Amino acid sequence: MSVSSVAIIGGGISGFSCARELRAGGFTGELTIIDPEGLPYDRPPLSKELLTGEFSTDDTLLAPASWYEDNNVEIRTDRADRIEPDTGRIVLESGAELTPDAIVLAVGGRARRLSIPGGDLAEIVTLRTKDDALALKEKLTAGTRVAIIGAGLIGAEVASTAVTNGCEVTLIDPAPVPLVPAVGHEIAEVLHAMHAERGITCFTGLPTQIRAEGGTLAIDLDGAHDTEGPHLIEADLVLVAIGIDTYSPLAASAELEQEGGILVDAGGRTSNEKIWAIGDVARLRNEDGSLARRHEHWESAANDGKAAAASILGQDPPTFGSSWFWSDRHGVHVEGIGSMTEPGHTVIREKDGKPQLAFRIDDDGKVIGAVAIDGGMAVRAARRIIDRGKIVDPADLANPDIDLKKLAR
Ligand SMILES: Cc1cc2nc3c(=O)[nH]c(=O)nc-3n(C[C@H](O)[C@H](O)[C@H](O)COP(=O)(O)OP(=O)(O)OC[C@H]3O[C@@H](n4cnc5c(N)ncnc54)[C@H](O)[C@@H]3O)c2cc1C
Repeated sequence: MSVSSVAIIGGGISGFSCARELRAGGFTGELTIIDPEGLPYDRPPLSKELLTGEFSTDDTLLAPASWYEDNNVEIRTDRADRIEPDTGRIVLESGAELTPDAIVLAVGGRARRLSIPGGDLAEIVTLRTKDDALALKEKLTAGTRVAIIGAGLIGAEVASTAVTNGCEVTLIDPAPVPLVPAVGHEIAEVLHAMHAERGITCFTGLPTQIRAEGGTLAIDLDGAHDTEGPHLIEADLVLVAIGIDTYSPLAASAELEQEGGILVDAGGRTSNEKIWAIGDVARLRNEDGSLARRHEHWESAANDGKAAAASILGQDPPTFGSSWFWSDRHGVHVEGIGSMTEPGHTVIREKDGKPQLAFRIDDDGKVIGAVAIDGGMAVRAARRIIDRGKIVDPADLANPDIDLKKLAR
């Protein structure tokens, strides 16, 4: 199929990366990015620098407006409402229509809401867009009682900023030590302990109901399992940070196969030969038919954009190594690579008597995952070890006097 026009629906990092790589790869045809939010911007700063005030909204842009002019990429500030499966015609919210040769769905996910009584109260906020972040920033003022439901990456980052701003913060999660699947038990414990050290109240439990009473939101908690504490939490502001929903009505209109994401091959191709899907909304179907775990991380979304661009240009998609992510909270920088949950065992490297680096070793002795607190260089070295399949002596990994870069050579 020769492609002379591409419409990318969604201007997050995956959509932007796809546009950039198409142009870098020599694509000279019509290239359009459709997004109701206008110029593509980056999401990680929404729970970090934009919330703390270190960044303006312009600082979150993935490229200045001039980049789109220079690269002849049209930005349509509009929402795609539906795609006709047979013709590939895209119908926009404004009523406009376009029928490009190739469509890339880069629509991300929607912040998941609580399906409990009161879970849909307008006063309960989520954090996925720039507008969400700007509205939240206004509310994180000294003395505000903030309850955050979900102590994963985003919940913890917001908790950190809120407490810095002088808010009274309560963090609620069903897991006594959240984030274990992402960073492993040992590092998760260190990170979780920082909340209490900074004056955040942590509860283990599930909210069962939220009521708006005057200006206050009352959260009923089930269990508070292993925690002594009230089963009712009152707050001025409730943020729900419990992940994303990836079901895409747009993909459904195009009759694409979806199962916990839009199913794609390694080049981002969906079940419709004119349509690709990338980023948080896409889920890889391996060649043997098994479905891969989705990575809701920035780098893997950017890589998806590169892979789809190659596939549209008729090239073999590049191969990428292990999935990488980062997070910033309480003045520390966390990075992780690969998997901390696969069968095997964990080796710890300590600093000042606390785990600072964790390595996951599989049953064949290979390093398959690593996480570090303030150890970006170590994670880069671990990435090389993992991607090369190197076997490294666990005693060397645990020894803080041994330079990981040397082990990675
Ligand atoms: C607050 C926050 C902090 C994060 N921090 C980190 C971090 O520190 N490290 C990390 O690795 N990852 C982080 N992530 C995850 C990372 O940002 C995502 O994995 C990444 O943004 C996914 O990119 P995407 O292009 O798939 O989707 P998105 O970035 O969600 O972009 C999707 C775009 O599609 C548009 N869209 C949706 N529907 C339509 C439609 N019908 N028509 C047209 N446009 C549409 C949306 O407006 C949106 O702009 C964070 C995410 C959030 C929300």
